[in-house]
Amino acid sequence: MNIHEYQGKELLKKWGVKVQEGYVAETPEEAKQVAQKLHEETGTSWYVVKAQIHAGGRGKGKVQETGSNGVVLAKSLDEVPEKAKGILGGTLVTIQTGAEGKKVNKVLIAQDVYYPGEHKPKEYYLSILLDRAKSRNVIMASTEGGMDIEEVAEHTPEKIIKEWIDPAIGLRPFQASKVAFKLGLEGKAQKEMVKFITSLYNAYINSDASQFEINPVLKTSDEQILAVDAKVNIDDNALYRHKDLAEMRDVSEEDPLEVEAGESGLNYVKLDGNVGCMVNGAGLAMATMDIIKLSGGEPANFLDVGGGANAQTVEAGFRIILKDPNVKAILINIFGGIVRCDRVANGVVEAYKKIGDIRVPIIVRLQGTNAEEGARIIDESGLKVKSAVVLKDAADRVKEALQGA
Ligand code: GDP
Ligand code: MN
Repeated sequence: MNIHEYQGKELLKKWGVKVQEGYVAETPEEAKQVAQKLHEETGTSWYVVKAQIHAGGRGKGKVQETGSNGVVLAKSLDEVPEKAKGILGGTLVTIQTGAEGKKVNKVLIAQDVYYPGEHKPKEYYLSILLDRAKSRNVIMASTEGGMDIEEVAEHTPEKIIKEWIDPAIGLRPFQASKVAFKLGLEGKAQKEMVKFITSLYNAYINSDASQFEINPVLKTSDEQILAVDAKVNIDDNALYRHKDLAEMRDVSEEDPLEVEAGESGLNYVKLDGNVGCMVNGAGLAMATMDIIKLSGGEPANFLDVGGGANAQTVEAGFRIILKDPNVKAILINIFGGIVRCDRVANGVVEAYKKIGDIRVPIIVRLQGTNAEEGARIIDESGLKVKSAVVLKDAADRVKEALQGA
């Protein structure tokens, strides 16, 4: 689960990570109020107004309706509401949102921390994520902060520092020092960076995160180390033990079909193809997507209805797949192990009749307990549903369906 930057910063702060201070606002008036509060608390008179969406690249991104960037500077209290107005309610398009962009419902009003001083502020990159190949969390750091890290990795991979953490031991003090040293820091800033990395790692482990990306981490002109941005991803499977984090979920940022599927207990991931599929078991679902590709189609989704598929789950799955306008055919692939195929077949027929007006061809492949009886129920239903027993047949039926479409 992703959370907004302002929520990510709240989480970091709780674990002692220093962040660029700020408050979230939903209207230009509220933006001014919180800026005033920020002024009283920090003495700042310059502010940054930052669109809160679940996507990066906001600084360079553009709000379609107003032409404003997604991150803008306000050089006085009076500028705050007008700058917020240029972002709030608009559609922000960034390199990460796709062409359709994302609607902005909230802005973060933060203290400007790039204020000029004796030394120039310097941006660093810092992230923690799971390295699956090494079965360890890895800290990644770079002096090339503020930039697109993929680009740094491609052109100057030597500028990315990596430090893997032994899960049985945790982060050892020398590892944090090593990263700070390799970033070229000295004196107070070096000590601050060690503290920053140590608390960031604690925050990561204790919130069961799967990714933290802080880009940029700023060394201010007075040698403080601060998180200016916070991209935080929490492992969904651990949310049950983090009620406070689970409450940070913003469903308006998620795909509506995925939200609906989640509510019906279905494991659904929306994809861009033209063949919808409904399968019991994640492994079989992956294999089914391969079969769809083999037949010349592209999977429109991943959908695992789970082990105990019944008429209700089949119906919920059908409805969700049918809401995707790109779907030209549906392949249902069920293995009758725990569930009997004749039951699934009845479920399909029942759901089909209930939904009515289904315009796309449906191919049902049932295998396992009572497979033949299941096929007979489908074939005798009189509906626009074709049955298949072996997977090759199912693939051929999908091919025919796509050619007919
Ligand atoms: P992203 O573009 O979505 O990654 O959003 P960031 O939070 O990283 O902000 C984008 C850019 O805005 C940063 O790289 C900075 O250059 C700039 N920025 C952020 N905070 C401040 C600030 O306090 N003062 C100034 N002058 N620039 C800032
Ligand atoms: Mn950033």
